[in-house]
Amino acid sequence: MTKTGKLFIISGPSGAGKGAISRRVAAGGGAYLSVSMTTRAPRAGETEGVSYFFVSHDEFRAKIAERGFFEFAEVYGEYYGTPKAPVESHIAKGEDVVLEIDIKGAMQAVEAAPDAVTIFVLPPSLAELRKRIEGRATDSKEAIERRLAKAVGEIGFLPKYDYCIVNDRLGDAVDRVKRVMAGEIPKVTTEEAAALVRKFEEEKEKE
Ligand code: 5GP
Repeated sequence: MTKTGKLFIISGPSGAGKGAISRRVAAGGGAYLSVSMTTRAPRAGETEGVSYFFVSHDEFRAKIAERGFFEFAEVYGEYYGTPKAPVESHIAKGEDVVLEIDIKGAMQAVEAAPDAVTIFVLPPSLAELRKRIEGRATDSKEAIERRLAKAVGEIGFLPKYDYCIVNDRLGDAVDRVKRVMAGEIPKVTTEEAAALVRKFEEEKEKE
């Protein structure tokens, strides 16, 4: 039997470092990192076709109409979607595929591909997440507070994921994700997931 690739879905709150982790995991041919389509404007330093395919709302709608997305979702008022064809072709070639997508998209993707492996990336603490988000000069004060409040709500979805990676140090987190992909790490238990959710909720209440 020919080997097909596996689908890995990486989600987590904005600022947890899932983008950096995904890029490093895929670097050097470790896996194919899906390039999403989005209607949001490019940020400084982002490259068309590498960071995202930046498209208009009309182009995005046309792609939805032709059923060209593996999954798509609205995030912060803009659309983001995973083009279906490259995901399918890389998996068929036996390559692992990594999607770095939001939680709504991840839940859709799991419905479409029940064998997908889901990985949730957590920051070490809420205070650290705030520091990281504030360090991104691209976001306004209002956007920062919105992202932080949203982060706590998102962490509540952790129990729906197979694995949890705490991104304390990038290199270590990348190694752990690689070990997840190699099947070397046990899944997060219900108790562990619940304890982590509680930790972040308590930290938010104390703020
Ligand atoms: P950003 O605008 O910061 O690049 O991304 C915002 C959010 O959109 C992140 O949570 C990111 O994971 C998510 N995202 C990026 N691409 C996709 C995609 O193709 N589908 C979905 N559902 N979410 C995406």
